[in-house]
Amino acid sequence: MIDPFGRRISYLRLSVTDRCDLRCTYCMPKRAAFLPRSELLGLDELDRLAAAFIRKGVRKLRLTGGEPLVRKGVIGLVERLSRFLANGALDELTLTTNGTRLAHHAADLARLGIRRINVSLDSLDPATFARITRGGRLDEVIAGIDAALAAGIAVKINAVALRDDNLGGLVDLAQWAHRRGAELTVIEVMPVGSVEAERIDQHVPMTEVRRRFEHRWTLTDLARRTGGPARYVRTDAGGTIGFITPLSRNFCDGCNRVRVTCTGRMYMCLGQEARADLAAPLRASADDCLLDSAIDEAIGRKPRGHDFAIRAGSSPAVERHMSATGG
Ligand code: SAM
Ligand code: SF4
Repeated sequence: MIDPFGRRISYLRLSVTDRCDLRCTYCMPKRAAFLPRSELLGLDELDRLAAAFIRKGVRKLRLTGGEPLVRKGVIGLVERLSRFLANGALDELTLTTNGTRLAHHAADLARLGIRRINVSLDSLDPATFARITRGGRLDEVIAGIDAALAAGIAVKINAVALRDDNLGGLVDLAQWAHRRGAELTVIEVMPVGSVEAERIDQHVPMTEVRRRFEHRWTLTDLARRTGGPARYVRTDAGGTIGFITPLSRNFCDGCNRVRVTCTGRMYMCLGQEARADLAAPLRASADDCLLDSAIDEAIGRKPRGHDFAIRAGSSPAVERHMSATGG
């Protein structure tokens, strides 16, 4: 799949649910509305969708949400999708999770071929963590991270930099991650969906975050790119830190990904409205001809990139929340 800007699309993020057991203040509003379960694609349908993208050249598949590990039957889906690891059609099958249920599932995920996992963790202070997630328990997430590491799964911790919540704790979070052999990636908050707080109050430019790390360590820029938006540095203590800067440094030129929601909506860009309905063609025929042409048509409309901006009083770039698109 090659888009109109010559970018090869080889990475699918597939959301398996819009539901979540947490309510992070930067991700969704307190009273988040979730889709009726009847609107969700079934596990067979998610599997068929993934298979269609893999046939078309997707080499990396990430399950996300909402919280993917709250979807009933998700381990069965991972088990089915792992056939694409076994036959070499996929290079990587992975997940992004908040970690609350990871302790229960880590061994199964490792057995099924999951080699790396992203766990979102914004603070090591139990009270701050509970405030950001609106009620989450830090000990559950730490147990999940430890279970994943013990099962041999490499962990990358994702933290969204938030001015009033975790800015002062990011350096310690990096050190904590590095001691466990995990990496930390820090992400600038993006203006996707309305939340109670003003984005401008949450947002911290990555240059400011980086300066904080530079007070603790000497940082060396790494050439390493993983096909994603992160830029990496190595600390003089040997740890790796990634920076994702959707606002201060746009990363769209090398974009290799598309997203599909749990209702079968394909979004060609996280920050644009361009979308295609894949559920109707999926359901309209048992063979995949209609589905294949719907995917091709959508790739032909992939936008050049987002134009995120955070200003006082500005409205979100898109109305849908990250939990709905599949972050
Ligand atoms: N529930 C899982 C989790 O939290 O890892 C997977 C879905 S979550 C939507 C995926 C990622 O999006 C998380 O790392 C989260 O921190 C990030 N995220 C959510 N809303 C965001 C926003 N407005 N700006 C930047 N990152 C955001
Ligand atoms: Fe849930 Fe992940 Fe959004 Fe937090 S960031 S509310 S864990 S979907």
